[in-house]
Amino acid sequence: MRDLSKDHRFLSINWATTREQFPRLEQLAVALARADVRGISPWREPVQEIGAKAAGKLIRDHGLTVTGYCRGGLFSNQGRAGLKAQIEDNRRCLDEAAEIGAACVVMVAGSLAPGSKDIRDARAMAREGLAELLPYARQAGVALGIEPLHPKYAADRCTCTSLGEANDICEALDPRGQGGIGVVVDVYHVWWDHRIAEEIARAGRGRRILAFHICDWLVPMRDMLLDRGMMGDGAIDIPHLRGLVEAAGYDGFCEVEIFSADTWWKKPGDEVIKTCIERYRTVV
Ligand code: ZN
Repeated sequence: MRDLSKDHRFLSINWATTREQFPRLEQLAVALARADVRGISPWREPVQEIGAKAAGKLIRDHGLTVTGYCRGGLFSNQGRAGLKAQIEDNRRCLDEAAEIGAACVVMVAGSLAPGSKDIRDARAMAREGLAELLPYARQAGVALGIEPLHPKYAADRCTCTSLGEANDICEALDPRGQGGIGVVVDVYHVWWDHRIAEEIARAGRGRRILAFHICDWLVPMRDMLLDRGMMGDGAIDIPHLRGLVEAAGYDGFCEVEIFSADTWWKKPGDEVIKTCIERYRTVV
């Protein structure tokens, strides 16, 4: 397992972590460069605000590595009638990701269709969408990073709720291991899974771990979406999970992704980044 205590070379900050303080991409890039953070993971909003070309230049000028682009997928959100448009939007997302040099696009499967209880069909739509995008992603040189979300989001965000399910999709769509599709392991979403060790090892065997996201699971949690904790403040054994992904061959960045309306979004952005660095070195 890597020793992270000496420096923070492999720390990446997801734009959402300080989106209230640094909503514009340039603000975040400057703040990260100031703190000697080398990784960034932007969302589409701040990239589209200035255009992907300018965003790519900005990121390169600040010496940042793009550890992921958030986010694509959402295939089932508008039901079958909207699937084609969602796929089309994902192609644009992949184009933007290629322009900014992202390693992968974070793919969130999508919710139940409006008014529907058919989770089977919602899951099918995600598979169809990913299958259709895979050749395009390979051509663009940007991998599809399937991020399973915690099952509490199955109805309204993401019907792919475990790493096992994400691995199944990868193996079904890429049986010969040609690449272009993999998984994003976010500790917040997978820490509870009793099969997590086997599934991380399985993803590693296919060389499919594309990103590793960190934050913490607070007890009690005030809000299902916007009360994620800083690493070290909650219930997740982060070093154990990092050990598993690294034993499975992952040697990339640890990306901090914290949605925290009442705590971390209320503190000065530079202080949040400083705390991320400290925690990365001590509890990750
Ligand atoms: Zn994540």
